[in-house]
Amino acid sequence: SDQVETLEFQAEARQLLQLMVHSIYSNKDVFLRELISNASDALDKLRLESLVDKDLAADVSDLHIEIAVDKDARTLTVRDNGVGMSRDDVVSLIGTIAKSGTAELLRRLRESKDAGASQELIGQFGVGFYATFMVADRVTLLSRRAGESGGTRWESTGEGTYTVEAVDEAPQGTSVTVHLKPADTEDNLHDYTAEWTVREIVKRYSDFIAWPIRMTVERAGEDGATTREAQTLNSMKALWARSRDEVDEAEYKEFYKHVSHDWADPLETIHMRGEGTFEYEALLFLPSHAPLDLFSPQGRRGVQLYVKRVFIMDDCDALMPNYLRFVKGVVDAHDLSLNISREILQQDRQIRAVRRRLVKKVLATLKEMPAESYRTFWAEFGAVVKEGLLEDPDNAEPLLDLVRVASTHDPAELTTLRDYVARMKDGQSEIYLATGESRSTIENSPHLEAFRAKGYEVLILTDPVDEVWVERVGQYGGRALRSVAKGQVDLETDEEKAKAEAERKDHAELLTWLTGALADSVKEVRLSSRLTTSPACVVGDAHDMTPTLEKMYRAMGQ
Ligand code: ADP
Ligand code: MG
Repeated sequence: SDQVETLEFQAEARQLLQLMVHSIYSNKDVFLRELISNASDALDKLRLESLVDKDLAADVSDLHIEIAVDKDARTLTVRDNGVGMSRDDVVSLIGTIAKSGTAELLRRLRESKDAGASQELIGQFGVGFYATFMVADRVTLLSRRAGESGGTRWESTGEGTYTVEAVDEAPQGTSVTVHLKPADTEDNLHDYTAEWTVREIVKRYSDFIAWPIRMTVERAGEDGATTREAQTLNSMKALWARSRDEVDEAEYKEFYKHVSHDWADPLETIHMRGEGTFEYEALLFLPSHAPLDLFSPQGRRGVQLYVKRVFIMDDCDALMPNYLRFVKGVVDAHDLSLNISREILQQDRQIRAVRRRLVKKVLATLKEMPAESYRTFWAEFGAVVKEGLLEDPDNAEPLLDLVRVASTHDPAELTTLRDYVARMKDGQSEIYLATGESRSTIENSPHLEAFRAKGYEVLILTDPVDEVWVERVGQYGGRALRSVAKGQVDLETDEEKAKAEAERKDHAELLTWLTGALADSVKEVRLSSRLTTSPACVVGDAHDMTPTLEKMYRAMGQ
């Protein structure tokens, strides 16, 4: 039918659009990058579909992106002849936000009073298509799914509702027309209908896009008449396929932003090549901040997989373990089938070998990172890296060297286990640690008294995952990791032991009586050398669960 339907944006989409319409983000040029990125994704998808499905009724002879400007109408259009969208696609993909972390983003934005922090949040999230509403007072989208006959026209001002209507004639793919806000407003410092502005933004943000981005430009000919010609604005070089000295820092950064949807620079770049029987190129990045969905099971993770420059899949979990899910980038493997599925990838021996090499490289890069960057990294991703101590026992050693923990040694600084060992007292053979909810509960706990009195350093572990990895790993460099809240810690000299033995004899009757009287609550009552100021404390058996762990299991209903 040719009826125009008016629909409402989903609530979360509406809230995000409000932020865009009222331009919370100051770098408005990025709207063009988002449109080009979507167009490029759509071309990737169509190429893959046509390779897999030989009968697909789609034209793949000249896949490209086109930008057209109209100064008089004040419009900019980005067109692609890619996979396109059906009516249902348009409604579900453009009318709602399926991205995980949206609710969290909105909550934090509401709480944040500081404009700078809000911008950063938006940047981390990556608003995609909605970024157009920073510069537009109206956006029109026309799309036809490759292989289908009719098209869909979508339009919105970004204020709560949009319209959809079926159209008989539409070219394959999608075109998005941005009706720019009036020229004199603050929102349009740049004239997006000017050729050089478009050229510059494409060069800056989208040069590496693998598809031609074309624009028809006007030139004054010798005879004074204007001639028009189509030019390709980008160089289309796949960054990962170039050698390292051919790529400059700015190109790496822009590419990172393209693959990660992050608007901040990466902390580290890893560019490597695997040769031999199984060739691949990898271009990986370590972000400078954690995404909002880092701990969400639906969060985006892993890297993109390409096969000889053909995009195959996002979030390829076979290439990166879960505990390195924050690593972003591209792996281009030369000798895989384009039809490869996630399940087959998981089983593939060569893919596993690639994954091992990538993990080693990421861990080595982290180890060599400058102290300042590493501090940032650890604050953002430390809790995730520690999951690796459970998930990846083969790499326990390099992982333990990456761990930073709080300690009684210096309240202001985290320490490495290596430094702890270097500071160990003569006669100290174990690494002492205390787990708990916070530094202050641990510091005030009677368990620490004897250690403090002896001048022994104790590690202070407050992450829920800490108890689990300490338990699993058990030791560092051959030295046991020993919880101060468990078992009998041997802190005594021979002289002290003799004295303690005498005291035990003196108080034997009292202890037997106390053990009997408290039989319902404790296993045993004994004299202790742990305490210096508290009269008594309860300790767990060496093999018991610690209180935090007990609480955790109870909360999990076990
Ligand atoms: P993202 O690209 O991160 O998924 P966007 O807001 O940019 O988020 O786009 C939302 C979705 O809309 C895309 O995932 C895609 O499915 C669809 N889409 C957007 N632009 C296009 C396009 N040019 N061609 C086909 N699908 C598109
Ligand atoms: Mg996008």
